[in-house]
Amino acid sequence: MGSISRSTAENDRPSSNGNLQPNHEATDDADPPAPNGHSAGIPSENDGPRKRRTPGLLPLEVGTRVMCRWRDGKYHPVKVIERRRILSGPNDYEYYVHYTEFNRRLDEWVKLEQLDLDTVETDVDEKVEDKATSLKMTRHQKRKIDETHVEGHEELDAASLREHEEFTKVKNIATIELGRYEIETWYFSPFPPEYSDTLKLFFCEFCLNFMKRKEQLQRHMRKCDLKHPPGDEIYRSGTLSMFEVDGKKNKVYGQNLCYLAKLFLDHKTLYYDVDLFLFYILCECDDRGCHMVGYFSKEKHSEESYNLACILTLPPYQRKGYGKFLIAFSYELSKKEGKVGTPERPLSDLGLLSYRGYWTRVLLDILKKHKSNISIKELSDMTAIKADDILSTLQSLDLIQYRKGQHVICADPKVLDRHLKAAGRGGLEVDVSKLIWTPYKEQG
Ligand SMILES: [Zn+2]
Repeated sequence: MGSISRSTAENDRPSSNGNLQPNHEATDDADPPAPNGHSAGIPSENDGPRKRRTPGLLPLEVGTRVMCRWRDGKYHPVKVIERRRILSGPNDYEYYVHYTEFNRRLDEWVKLEQLDLDTVETDVDEKVEDKATSLKMTRHQKRKIDETHVEGHEELDAASLREHEEFTKVKNIATIELGRYEIETWYFSPFPPEYSDTLKLFFCEFCLNFMKRKEQLQRHMRKCDLKHPPGDEIYRSGTLSMFEVDGKKNKVYGQNLCYLAKLFLDHKTLYYDVDLFLFYILCECDDRGCHMVGYFSKEKHSEESYNLACILTLPPYQRKGYGKFLIAFSYELSKKEGKVGTPERPLSDLGLLSYRGYWTRVLLDILKKHKSNISIKELSDMTAIKADDILSTLQSLDLIQYRKGQHVICADPKVLDRHLKAAGRGGLEVDVSKLIWTPYKEQG
């Protein structure tokens, strides 16, 4: 297939704005609740209301709303997204639930014991009621998704969108092995149909080919001669290296990367041609090779001055400052290009937090040092941050006043210090002297 998925994080926590977007990030600046996969605690006799097994209630219908005991030991409202039979017996089902208060990345399979049947609301969602969903993607569905995503979601009619949501709602691959890590996945990813019955996938950490069995991977590792991403090393500082991979020259790698990334990025799966993108792969290097910790992608040409499409820090490497590093790196590239840049919109919840942190640190550092008045245009020229992003950041910090028809930055040093402290550490610094790069130019 000549297309790949770009995806986004959907935020459906009630506390922030929901959004669906090709932006996408699981970076490390924010603290996502760490999903713990498919085990939500061992049920005990004493820790919940007594269940009355109403005859006729079970098995629960898809769409049912009920309270479910989560890993914190407390009951939270959930909606049943899917069910599947386990073992024998008429009522032996487990349920795939969405915690309505939490992000979709915490959706999981739960046992009947975790559900408080006294709280069942049988207000079954009509859309999903009679739809026997299958994780197996038919060729027809596959083609349909490929086609529809060329256009983007705006173009989907309600029925196709529903079909897509049906299809993407349950995680398929539960864990992956990548290098020395076994990683629990967060979201659905549209792997080819032959992988749809697989719970675990084994990735070559260098070429990102994936396999169903460990023995296949071991055989592959004896043959695979890559020890780093297949592209140019454009940055090296200490044990950190950044590689630039051209999606046109390394199509399979680009597609594999997108399959992998989608496991940790929610929703709005868009299929794009990898040809149009450059991938910046951040690696920790040792004598065994260069191990990917995260990446971001960037359109080769962007009319909207996007300097970043997708960004991901792999879960084992999160909260080490790599997400901040990737964001900072994307702006260093923009500076070298002599352009302003902005991430694709809308941002996911985690993405917005990461970016707000970055913008705040960069802008307030300058405001602190700069004694005289400075305009938003000047700030933009210095940082490659788009003027709109500067304005919204300073507005959110209450540092902008509107006087006599003009936006004026009010930079009280004490207030700046307070905001800087709240924005936290900047993480790993990008050492610009170690960046050896020329902006992309179409060849031929
Ligand atoms: Zn390989």
